[in-house]
Amino acid sequence: MKKIILLIALPVLAIGVALGSFIYILDIMGIGAPSAAPAAVKQLPAAPVKKTTPTATLAIALPIADALGRVTKKPFSLYVTPNFSPVKPERFTGYHTGVDFETTPGERDIDVPIFAICPGKILVKKTASGYGGVLNESCTINGQAVTVTYGHLRLASIAKKVGETLAQGEQLGVLGTGYSKETDGERKHLHLGIHKGAGAVLNGYVATVAELKSWINVLDYLAPKK
Ligand SMILES: [Zn+2]
Repeated sequence: MKKIILLIALPVLAIGVALGSFIYILDIMGIGAPSAAPAAVKQLPAAPVKKTTPTATLAIALPIADALGRVTKKPFSLYVTPNFSPVKPERFTGYHTGVDFETTPGERDIDVPIFAICPGKILVKKTASGYGGVLNESCTINGQAVTVTYGHLRLASIAKKVGETLAQGEQLGVLGTGYSKETDGERKHLHLGIHKGAGAVLNGYVATVAELKSWINVLDYLAPKK
């Protein structure tokens, strides 16, 4: 009797051991049914929020991509005459009421989008001497009523009409082709002026420093002083 039990028990034991080993090997190889759920990963304390000096919030949107790098010829308040100007030939005389944003040679034949720097209503949209296509937008910037002039635009690219509203950052149109009627013969660039008050105004230059006080340098908002 004992022999019979042994004869049965031994193979069963052998199979059991073999099977156990096999499952063990599968387990350590990561094969087969997942074992118990992994123990909860110890919760690490949250990484401290890196404190950075907040970027000064701009009161306005960029009028053109890479705006700051484009101001290379005529900044705000520059006094020019036909004999003294970074631009040749120069036909204007006076203090520059705006800031000129230049284009690159690579942008000569492509559309360069221009964006509304503030939310506001279109007051003027027309072709004017010295600008070609020009737009006046009525805005409030930092609580102050202003009129923004966007000069040298392709008038046909401006879909919205006088009286309609532009959202801040909305593309209002594209620059006019250089040395064409669209820019009134000027190079391809954006002239952007900000005049204090709500009225339409298109002067690109004024004769006196006193008059210049009615204008705001857009770079005061694009590159705020620390
Ligand atoms: Zn200008």
